[in-house]
Amino acid sequence: MREIYLDNSATTRCFPQAAELMSRIYLEDYGNPSSMHHKGVQAEKHIREARKILSGILRVKPDNLIFTSCGTEGDNLAIIGCAMAGKRSGMHLVTTPIEHPAVLETMRFLESRGFEVTVLPVDREGLVDPADVSAAVREDTILVSVMHTNNEIGTVQPVAEIGEAIKKKNPRTLFHVDAVQGFGKARIYPARMKIDLLTVSGHKIHGPKGVGFLYVGDKVKIQNILFGGGQQKGLRSGTENVAGTAGMALAAKMLYDSFDEDTERLYSLREDFISRITKIPEVSVNGRRGREGAPHIISVTVPGVRAEVLLHALEDKGVYVSAGSACASNRPHVSSTLSAIGLGKDGLDSTVRISMSVMTTKEDMEEAAAAMEELIPFLRRYTRH
Ligand code: PLP
Repeated sequence: MREIYLDNSATTRCFPQAAELMSRIYLEDYGNPSSMHHKGVQAEKHIREARKILSGILRVKPDNLIFTSCGTEGDNLAIIGCAMAGKRSGMHLVTTPIEHPAVLETMRFLESRGFEVTVLPVDREGLVDPADVSAAVREDTILVSVMHTNNEIGTVQPVAEIGEAIKKKNPRTLFHVDAVQGFGKARIYPARMKIDLLTVSGHKIHGPKGVGFLYVGDKVKIQNILFGGGQQKGLRSGTENVAGTAGMALAAKMLYDSFDEDTERLYSLREDFISRITKIPEVSVNGRRGREGAPHIISVTVPGVRAEVLLHALEDKGVYVSAGSACASNRPHVSSTLSAIGLGKDGLDSTVRISMSVMTTKEDMEEAAAAMEELIPFLRRYTRH
């Protein structure tokens, strides 16, 4: 049976070129970048090259990147690191209800340590209003964290306007953006968007799992959350994941080298799929249509069919999707994004996420749509008598 993998927001297949480069590093250039001999220098070269590629894509300085073990670590370092470094000037943080648990749980932890957290409202499409951000920012606000692209419904936030609103109200307040779902799918320029900290993860962009990076702007006061050998200017102790870092950078380069054509193609696949799927009675799509949504994420609510039932029925046909958000964990949880945009209990139980990547083809999407057209009326017969 042909596999149709449409769970790319959970994780992506590594580009073969990235896997090959990593294999070569594991087998040949396996030195510790901190070692002073030739093997160390070779490894250090890979890290330097990765810094150059990734900072070039963001148009920032190579030194502004800190390599991490994943997106979760990047979010934790940004939020806890800035909260610790800035707590003398304020104890207030701002975020949204649709953030990934890597942000929301970190905020909750800080709340338990005496920080105050304001959670902004979002509209029915999951959009944050920059005017609400401006109203929430105060004299004692250390940091605002708003994600670039939502992992469940694909809504893309007006990041540049939010950055502008924050700095106008309080130039000292830092702006953190979780771009784990947005990097590789959108052009993101921290300087122009007034972003101080930006989180990226390797495995969402056809790089390896277990690696990511955090962009930290020049003037940002941040404290390390890992203690040890003092690598990466003391901000992130621990031997660098040389192969993973190089693989992630190569994958990012490949994505941005063909960015325009891939983005056009994905938007067109997305619109065709949405037009077809919403012809099935009662089926609706969450989040934004067209260019204000991400090119790769489609959140579909199918009243009368439980998401898990549809997921497994699709799996039997070789089509892999996820129920709500699979990238948080495999324990069942109520989606904070879907609740925040006002989906009732029935909607929460019957929403699946289809997420594409540059590897997704027209045939994949047509076969997935055909499978849903066949399965939904059939499965509804069991739930609706
Ligand atoms: N932030 C967002 C928006 C995500 O979708 C994910 C996905 O898992 C993460 C953070 C966490 O990234 P990682 O799996 O690399 O820890």
